[in-house]
Amino acid sequence: MDKRPLFKIDRDSGIPLIGSIAFGLIDRGTNIIQVRPITGCPLNCIFCSIDEGPNSRTRWARYYVELDYLLEWFKWLVKLKGGKGIEAHIDCAGEPTLYPELVDLVQALREVKGVEVISMQTHGTLLNERKIDELEDAGMSRINLSIDSMDPDKAKLLSGSQSYDLSKILGLAEYIASSKIDLMIAPVWVPGYNDEDIPKIIEFALKIGAGKKWPPLGIQKYEAHKRGRKPVKSWPYSLFYEKLRALERRYNVKLRITKRDFNVHPLPTPPIPFEKGEAIKVKIVGPGWLYDEALGVSRGRAVTLVGLPYFKEGIEVKAIVKSVKHNIIVAKPTEKSLMIIKELLR
Ligand code: SF4
Repeated sequence: MDKRPLFKIDRDSGIPLIGSIAFGLIDRGTNIIQVRPITGCPLNCIFCSIDEGPNSRTRWARYYVELDYLLEWFKWLVKLKGGKGIEAHIDCAGEPTLYPELVDLVQALREVKGVEVISMQTHGTLLNERKIDELEDAGMSRINLSIDSMDPDKAKLLSGSQSYDLSKILGLAEYIASSKIDLMIAPVWVPGYNDEDIPKIIEFALKIGAGKKWPPLGIQKYEAHKRGRKPVKSWPYSLFYEKLRALERRYNVKLRITKRDFNVHPLPTPPIPFEKGEAIKVKIVGPGWLYDEALGVSRGRAVTLVGLPYFKEGIEVKAIVKSVKHNIIVAKPTEKSLMIIKELLR
């Protein structure tokens, strides 16, 4: 049970849905729009790059975005991108099946002119056959299902959860593969943990008929992220691809997937209203995703304010922009601003 506070973002909040990596929409300048309606996760994977889940030591707030508000922004963005060939990829900084309105979201995305593909990245623990039927009827095109081991005990270990039920997930994988939804099995290869599982996962994916339209497997390279859980050192890309190449030869299946496999192509993207290093004013509107962060708003973008051991909603701070890549805005309050907040909290 996740007891961390849930922060609701709706039209009345006025919080822009572009700017944060945790929620809303992420546009990396292609036809793929990442849709992030919720954060949080029922699992605690030992390799989680964002340290999510009930046992997280760094994430304290969870975000929930109201459906209509999310759609408003999504439609605006699709139009800006030219209104055709769009893939809505529900990936979330966490587990998207936690979103209570997931089926309605898929249905509504399907109705947006220009959306051709709807996909989702999940570990599947909250899915069941009825939910898969509903997602199929709503128009889901592809589910990227993470299965990290074919051994029940190791699967529990990797997921950081004793309740992880591998046989249920394998059954659901077969169910998806036999539906109209395409299935891509997407394990994270964690060196030294699931090396011997990867061939078995490939065999399973091929056996059940995953990947009718897209590749059957999307093996992900484990990366040791600064803010993530790090059970082991990550491999260099050269070694990872060498191992994939050997498995491709052994199973005669494509494992080194590229943007072309998903028809990813450049499309217009909203302007970035900041420059790195610029001093800006940011209004604090809520808690940050991490303990030492706050959520702010400036120039029509959500802004992650970092390095804040304390914060006060409603006040405006001066901050220096640290990062603007893909319109994901990170800024650090000046020392003076931090002192002012400290004074206000006395
Ligand atoms: S890797 Fe995904 S499923 Fe696992 S804890 Fe992180 S967000 Fe949850």
